[in-house]
Amino acid sequence: MKSFEDAKIEYLKDELLSKHTTYKVGGPCSYMVFPKNVDELKKIVEIIKDNKMKYMILGNGSNVIFSSKKYEGTIINLKYLKDYKIERNKLTAYSGASLPQIALFTVNNGYKGLDFAVGFPASVGGAVFMNAGCYGSEMSDVILDVTYLDENLNMHTIKNDKCKFSYRNSIFKQNKKMIIVSCTIKLTKTKEDLKQLIDERMKKRIQTQPLEKPSAGSVFKNPEGTSAGKLIEDAGLKGKQIGGAKVSEKHANFIINEENATGEDIKKLVKYVSDEVEEKYNIRLETEQEFINF
Ligand SMILES: Cc1cc2nc3c(=O)[nH]c(=O)nc-3n(C[C@H](O)[C@H](O)[C@H](O)COP(=O)(O)OP(=O)(O)OC[C@H]3O[C@@H](n4cnc5c(N)ncnc54)[C@H](O)[C@@H]3O)c2cc1C
Repeated sequence: MKSFEDAKIEYLKDELLSKHTTYKVGGPCSYMVFPKNVDELKKIVEIIKDNKMKYMILGNGSNVIFSSKKYEGTIINLKYLKDYKIERNKLTAYSGASLPQIALFTVNNGYKGLDFAVGFPASVGGAVFMNAGCYGSEMSDVILDVTYLDENLNMHTIKNDKCKFSYRNSIFKQNKKMIIVSCTIKLTKTKEDLKQLIDERMKKRIQTQPLEKPSAGSVFKNPEGTSAGKLIEDAGLKGKQIGGAKVSEKHANFIINEENATGEDIKKLVKYVSDEVEEKYNIRLETEQEFINF
Protein backbone atom coordinates (compact mmCIF):
# COMPACT_ATOMS: atom_id res chain seq x y z
CA MET A 1 0.00 0.00 0.00
CA LYS A 2 1.29 3.45 -0.93
CA SER A 3 2.22 5.95 1.76
CA PHE A 4 2.44 9.75 1.63
CA GLU A 5 6.21 9.29 1.59
CA ASP A 6 6.06 7.01 -1.50
CA ALA A 7 3.78 9.48 -3.26
CA LYS A 8 6.19 12.35 -2.45
CA ILE A 9 3.46 14.28 -0.67
CA GLU A 10 4.59 16.88 1.86
CA TYR A 11 3.44 15.75 5.31
CA LEU A 12 4.08 16.10 9.01
CA LYS A 13 3.68 13.39 11.64
CA ASP A 14 2.13 14.09 15.05
CA GLU A 15 1.72 17.77 14.20
CA LEU A 16 0.00 19.78 16.93
CA LEU A 17 -3.36 21.09 15.77
CA SER A 18 -3.05 23.98 18.21
CA LYS A 19 -0.55 25.46 15.74
CA HIS A 20 -3.22 25.53 13.03
CA THR A 21 -6.33 26.85 14.80
CA THR A 22 -7.15 30.44 15.68
CA TYR A 23 -8.19 29.32 19.20
CA LYS A 24 -4.70 27.79 19.55
CA VAL A 25 -6.15 24.55 20.91
CA GLY A 26 -5.92 20.94 19.74
CA GLY A 27 -3.75 17.88 20.32
CA PRO A 28 -1.61 16.14 17.70
CA CYS A 29 -2.86 14.44 14.53
CA SER A 30 -1.34 11.28 13.06
CA TYR A 31 -0.61 13.04 9.76
CA MET A 32 -1.01 16.50 8.34
CA VAL A 33 -0.65 16.58 4.56
CA PHE A 34 -0.16 19.54 2.25
CA PRO A 35 -1.29 18.97 -1.36
CA LYS A 36 0.38 21.34 -3.85
CA ASN A 37 -2.23 20.81 -6.58
CA VAL A 38 -5.43 18.90 -7.35
CA ASP A 39 -3.53 15.82 -8.58
CA GLU A 40 -1.77 15.57 -5.24
CA LEU A 41 -5.09 16.05 -3.44
CA LYS A 42 -6.50 13.10 -5.39
CA LYS A 43 -3.45 10.96 -4.55
CA ILE A 44 -3.90 11.82 -0.88
CA VAL A 45 -7.56 10.80 -0.87
CA GLU A 46 -6.61 7.55 -2.60
CA ILE A 47 -3.94 6.76 0.02
CA ILE A 48 -6.35 7.61 2.83
CA LYS A 49 -8.98 5.30 1.36
CA ASP A 50 -6.48 2.47 0.77
CA ASN A 51 -5.36 2.74 4.37
CA LYS A 52 -8.94 3.15 5.66
CA MET A 53 -7.88 6.28 7.55
CA LYS A 54 -10.11 8.90 9.09
CA TYR A 55 -9.58 12.36 7.57
CA MET A 56 -10.79 15.90 7.48
CA ILE A 57 -10.09 19.11 5.60
CA LEU A 58 -8.60 22.06 7.39
CA GLY A 59 -8.93 25.57 6.04
CA ASN A 60 -7.61 28.34 8.25
CA GLY A 61 -8.81 26.66 11.46
CA SER A 62 -10.95 29.67 12.43
CA ASN A 63 -14.17 27.81 13.11
CA VAL A 64 -13.02 24.54 14.68
CA ILE A 65 -12.32 23.33 18.22
CA PHE A 66 -10.19 20.20 18.51
CA SER A 67 -9.92 18.17 21.71
CA SER A 68 -6.53 17.55 23.32
CA LYS A 69 -6.71 13.86 22.34
CA LYS A 70 -4.68 12.66 19.38
CA TYR A 71 -6.63 12.86 16.12
CA GLU A 72 -6.04 9.34 14.79
CA GLY A 73 -6.17 10.18 11.12
CA THR A 74 -5.08 12.62 8.45
CA ILE A 75 -5.70 16.33 8.34
CA ILE A 76 -5.62 17.68 4.79
CA ASN A 77 -4.28 21.21 4.98
CA LEU A 78 -5.12 23.15 1.82
CA LYS A 79 -2.86 26.13 2.40
CA TYR A 80 -0.94 25.64 -0.87
CA LEU A 81 -4.07 25.56 -3.06
CA LYS A 82 -4.28 29.31 -2.99
CA ASP A 83 -4.30 30.74 -6.52
CA TYR A 84 -6.92 33.24 -7.60
CA LYS A 85 -7.61 35.52 -10.54
CA ILE A 86 -10.21 37.97 -11.79
CA GLU A 87 -11.44 37.77 -15.36
CA ARG A 88 -14.36 39.78 -16.71
CA ASN A 89 -16.09 40.52 -13.38
CA LYS A 90 -15.57 36.94 -12.24
CA LEU A 91 -13.18 35.83 -9.52
CA THR A 92 -11.95 32.24 -9.51
CA ALA A 93 -10.30 31.19 -6.25
CA TYR A 94 -8.90 27.95 -4.90
CA SER A 95 -10.15 26.86 -1.51
CA GLY A 96 -6.93 27.37 0.45
CA ALA A 97 -6.70 31.04 -0.51
CA SER A 98 -7.17 33.59 2.25
CA LEU A 99 -10.63 35.13 1.94
CA PRO A 100 -9.72 38.49 3.53
CA GLN A 101 -6.69 38.78 1.24
CA ILE A 102 -8.81 38.13 -1.84
CA ALA A 103 -11.55 40.43 -0.63
CA LEU A 104 -9.03 43.25 -0.23
CA PHE A 105 -7.60 42.48 -3.68
CA THR A 106 -11.07 42.85 -5.25
CA VAL A 107 -11.61 46.19 -3.50
CA ASN A 108 -8.17 47.48 -4.49
CA ASN A 109 -9.02 46.62 -8.09
CA GLY A 110 -12.31 48.54 -8.01
CA TYR A 111 -14.73 45.67 -7.53
CA LYS A 112 -17.72 45.39 -5.24
CA GLY A 113 -19.29 42.14 -4.02
CA LEU A 114 -16.76 40.52 -1.73
CA ASP A 115 -15.97 43.64 0.32
CA PHE A 116 -17.97 42.26 3.29
CA ALA A 117 -15.33 39.54 3.77
CA VAL A 118 -12.25 41.64 4.53
CA GLY A 119 -12.50 41.31 8.31
CA PHE A 120 -12.53 37.61 9.18
CA PRO A 121 -9.76 35.03 8.84
CA ALA A 122 -11.42 32.38 6.65
CA SER A 123 -10.02 30.33 3.82
CA VAL A 124 -12.22 30.37 0.73
CA GLY A 125 -13.18 26.69 1.26
CA GLY A 126 -14.06 27.20 4.93
CA ALA A 127 -16.20 30.22 4.06
CA VAL A 128 -18.10 28.35 1.35
CA PHE A 129 -18.54 25.33 3.66
CA MET A 130 -20.33 27.36 6.31
CA ASN A 131 -21.72 30.15 4.12
CA ALA A 132 -19.82 32.71 6.17
CA GLY A 133 -20.97 36.27 6.21
CA CYS A 134 -21.40 39.60 7.98
CA TYR A 135 -22.92 43.08 7.48
CA GLY A 136 -26.02 41.52 5.90
CA SER A 137 -24.10 39.67 3.16
CA GLU A 138 -22.93 36.08 2.94
CA MET A 139 -20.99 33.89 0.54
CA SER A 140 -24.18 32.60 -1.11
CA ASP A 141 -24.93 36.15 -2.33
CA VAL A 142 -21.83 36.19 -4.51
CA ILE A 143 -20.99 32.56 -5.37
CA LEU A 144 -21.65 31.54 -8.97
CA ASP A 145 -20.51 27.93 -8.70
CA VAL A 146 -18.39 25.59 -6.59
CA THR A 147 -16.05 22.84 -7.78
CA TYR A 148 -15.54 19.89 -5.45
CA LEU A 149 -13.88 16.49 -5.36
CA ASP A 150 -16.04 13.56 -4.30
CA GLU A 151 -14.92 10.43 -2.44
CA ASN A 152 -14.55 8.52 -5.71
CA LEU A 153 -12.10 11.15 -6.93
CA ASN A 154 -14.51 12.69 -9.43
CA MET A 155 -14.61 16.45 -9.84
CA HIS A 156 -17.96 18.24 -10.08
CA THR A 157 -18.95 21.84 -10.58
CA ILE A 158 -22.32 22.82 -9.16
CA LYS A 159 -24.17 26.10 -9.48
CA ASN A 160 -25.09 28.22 -6.50
CA ASP A 161 -28.71 26.99 -6.41
CA LYS A 162 -27.51 23.40 -5.93
CA CYS A 163 -25.30 24.31 -2.94
CA LYS A 164 -28.28 24.38 -0.51
CA PHE A 165 -27.00 27.54 1.13
CA SER A 166 -28.82 28.84 4.21
CA TYR A 167 -27.77 30.68 7.38
CA ARG A 168 -24.24 29.32 8.14
CA ASN A 169 -25.04 26.15 6.24
CA SER A 170 -24.49 24.46 2.87
CA ILE A 171 -24.62 21.08 1.16
CA PHE A 172 -20.88 20.74 1.93
CA LYS A 173 -21.53 21.05 5.66
CA GLN A 174 -24.37 18.52 5.50
CA ASN A 175 -22.45 16.00 3.41
CA LYS A 176 -18.85 16.31 4.73
CA LYS A 177 -17.53 14.02 1.98
CA MET A 178 -17.15 16.77 -0.60
CA ILE A 179 -13.80 18.52 -0.75
CA ILE A 180 -14.29 22.06 -1.99
CA VAL A 181 -11.51 22.73 -4.49
CA SER A 182 -12.42 26.14 -5.90
CA CYS A 183 -15.29 28.49 -6.54
CA THR A 184 -16.22 31.38 -8.78
CA ILE A 185 -17.60 34.63 -7.45
CA LYS A 186 -19.42 37.41 -9.27
CA LEU A 187 -18.12 40.93 -8.86
CA THR A 188 -19.32 44.33 -10.05
CA LYS A 189 -17.09 47.19 -11.15
CA THR A 190 -17.66 50.21 -8.94
CA LYS A 191 -16.42 53.77 -8.47
CA GLU A 192 -17.55 53.77 -4.82
CA ASP A 193 -14.81 54.31 -2.25
CA LEU A 194 -15.07 50.97 -0.50
CA LYS A 195 -11.70 51.41 1.21
CA GLN A 196 -13.16 53.95 3.59
CA LEU A 197 -16.09 51.65 4.40
CA ILE A 198 -13.66 48.80 5.09
CA ASP A 199 -11.53 50.98 7.36
CA GLU A 200 -14.61 51.98 9.35
CA ARG A 201 -15.72 48.36 9.68
CA MET A 202 -12.26 47.26 10.81
CA LYS A 203 -12.17 50.03 13.42
CA LYS A 204 -15.56 48.85 14.70
CA ARG A 205 -14.34 45.23 14.88
CA ILE A 206 -11.29 46.30 16.86
CA GLN A 207 -13.51 48.27 19.26
CA THR A 208 -16.15 45.59 19.75
CA GLN A 209 -14.35 42.24 19.34
CA PRO A 210 -11.55 40.77 21.50
CA LEU A 211 -9.12 40.48 18.58
CA GLU A 212 -6.13 40.64 20.92
CA LYS A 213 -6.87 37.11 22.21
CA PRO A 214 -7.20 33.78 20.34
CA SER A 215 -10.82 32.96 19.46
CA ALA A 216 -12.88 31.65 16.57
CA GLY A 217 -15.33 34.53 16.23
CA SER A 218 -18.98 34.11 17.21
CA VAL A 219 -19.58 30.93 19.18
CA PHE A 220 -23.35 30.69 18.76
CA LYS A 221 -25.71 31.29 15.87
CA ASN A 222 -28.20 34.07 16.42
CA PRO A 223 -31.62 32.62 17.28
CA GLU A 224 -34.62 33.97 15.28
CA GLY A 225 -35.32 37.57 16.20
CA THR A 226 -32.57 38.06 18.77
CA SER A 227 -28.82 38.00 19.16
CA ALA A 228 -26.90 35.30 21.00
CA GLY A 229 -24.51 37.94 22.38
CA LYS A 230 -27.38 39.89 23.96
CA LEU A 231 -28.85 36.77 25.60
CA ILE A 232 -25.45 35.80 27.03
CA GLU A 233 -24.75 39.33 28.26
CA ASP A 234 -28.25 39.66 29.80
CA ALA A 235 -27.73 36.32 31.55
CA GLY A 236 -24.72 37.93 33.28
CA LEU A 237 -22.19 35.58 31.73
CA LYS A 238 -19.59 38.04 30.45
CA GLY A 239 -16.26 37.18 32.07
CA LYS A 240 -17.33 33.65 33.09
CA GLN A 241 -14.23 31.45 32.95
CA ILE A 242 -13.71 27.68 32.96
CA GLY A 243 -10.08 26.56 32.91
CA GLY A 244 -8.33 28.83 30.42
CA ALA A 245 -11.49 29.61 28.39
CA LYS A 246 -13.42 32.78 29.09
CA VAL A 247 -16.56 34.53 27.82
CA SER A 248 -15.17 37.80 26.48
CA GLU A 249 -15.94 40.96 28.45
CA LYS A 250 -15.88 42.87 25.16
CA HIS A 251 -18.29 40.70 23.15
CA ALA A 252 -20.43 38.11 24.93
CA ASN A 253 -20.72 35.83 21.88
CA PHE A 254 -16.94 35.36 21.79
CA ILE A 255 -15.08 32.82 23.90
CA ILE A 256 -11.40 33.64 24.19
CA ASN A 257 -8.39 31.53 25.01
CA GLU A 258 -7.48 33.60 28.05
CA GLU A 259 -4.61 31.42 29.20
CA ASN A 260 -3.58 27.96 27.99
CA ALA A 261 -7.17 26.89 27.33
CA THR A 262 -7.91 23.44 25.95
CA GLY A 263 -10.72 22.37 23.65
CA GLU A 264 -12.22 20.64 26.68
CA ASP A 265 -12.32 23.96 28.61
CA ILE A 266 -14.10 25.62 25.68
CA LYS A 267 -16.58 22.73 25.42
CA LYS A 268 -17.42 22.94 29.12
CA LEU A 269 -17.88 26.69 28.90
CA VAL A 270 -20.10 26.40 25.82
CA LYS A 271 -22.30 23.91 27.68
CA TYR A 272 -22.42 26.11 30.77
CA VAL A 273 -23.45 29.17 28.74
CA SER A 274 -26.06 27.21 26.73
CA ASP A 275 -27.58 25.74 29.91
CA GLU A 276 -27.72 29.12 31.69
CA VAL A 277 -29.31 30.87 28.69
CA GLU A 278 -31.84 28.05 28.29
CA GLU A 279 -32.76 28.16 31.95
CA LYS A 280 -33.27 31.95 31.90
CA TYR A 281 -34.84 32.47 28.47
CA ASN A 282 -36.02 29.02 27.36
CA ILE A 283 -33.94 29.33 24.18
CA ARG A 284 -31.36 26.65 23.32
CA LEU A 285 -28.40 28.26 21.62
CA GLU A 286 -26.85 26.39 18.72
CA THR A 287 -23.09 26.60 18.11
CA GLU A 288 -21.68 28.04 14.91
CA GLN A 289 -18.26 26.53 15.73
CA GLU A 290 -17.49 22.84 15.29
CA PHE A 291 -16.20 20.46 17.98
CA ILE A 292 -13.93 17.74 16.59
CA ASN A 293 -12.53 14.55 18.11
CA PHE A 294 -14.23 14.75 21.53
C1 LIG B 1 -11.81 37.10 14.95
C2 LIG B 1 -12.78 36.28 14.12
C3 LIG B 1 -13.87 36.90 13.53
C4 LIG B 1 -14.78 36.15 12.78
N1 LIG B 1 -15.83 36.79 12.19
C5 LIG B 1 -16.68 36.09 11.41
C6 LIG B 1 -17.75 36.76 10.70
O1 LIG B 1 -17.90 37.97 10.77
N2 LIG B 1 -18.59 35.99 9.96
C7 LIG B 1 -18.43 34.64 9.85
O2 LIG B 1 -19.23 33.99 9.14
N3 LIG B 1 -17.44 33.99 10.49
C8 LIG B 1 -16.56 34.67 11.25
N4 LIG B 1 -15.53 34.02 11.89
C9 LIG B 1 -15.46 32.54 11.84
C10 LIG B 1 -14.62 31.93 10.70
O3 LIG B 1 -13.62 32.82 10.21
C11 LIG B 1 -15.51 31.45 9.56
O4 LIG B 1 -16.44 30.50 10.01
C12 LIG B 1 -14.74 30.83 8.39
O5 LIG B 1 -15.63 30.61 7.33
C13 LIG B 1 -14.04 29.51 8.72
O6 LIG B 1 -13.15 29.23 7.67
P1 LIG B 1 -11.83 28.37 7.88
O7 LIG B 1 -11.11 28.31 6.58
O8 LIG B 1 -11.05 28.88 9.03
O9 LIG B 1 -12.46 26.97 8.18
P2 LIG B 1 -11.92 25.84 9.21
O10 LIG B 1 -12.12 26.32 10.61
O11 LIG B 1 -10.56 25.41 8.82
O12 LIG B 1 -12.94 24.68 8.91
C14 LIG B 1 -14.30 24.81 9.24
C15 LIG B 1 -15.07 23.63 8.60
O13 LIG B 1 -15.02 23.77 7.19
C16 LIG B 1 -14.51 22.56 6.61
N5 LIG B 1 -13.73 22.95 5.42
C17 LIG B 1 -12.78 23.91 5.35
N6 LIG B 1 -12.29 23.97 4.09
C18 LIG B 1 -12.95 23.02 3.37
C19 LIG B 1 -12.87 22.57 2.01
N7 LIG B 1 -12.04 23.13 1.14
N8 LIG B 1 -13.69 21.56 1.61
C20 LIG B 1 -14.55 20.98 2.50
N9 LIG B 1 -14.66 21.35 3.79
C21 LIG B 1 -13.87 22.36 4.22
C22 LIG B 1 -13.63 21.95 7.68
O14 LIG B 1 -13.48 20.55 7.49
C23 LIG B 1 -14.45 22.26 8.93
O15 LIG B 1 -15.48 21.31 9.07
C24 LIG B 1 -14.59 34.76 12.64
C25 LIG B 1 -13.48 34.13 13.23
C26 LIG B 1 -12.58 34.89 13.96
C27 LIG B 1 -11.38 34.21 14.57
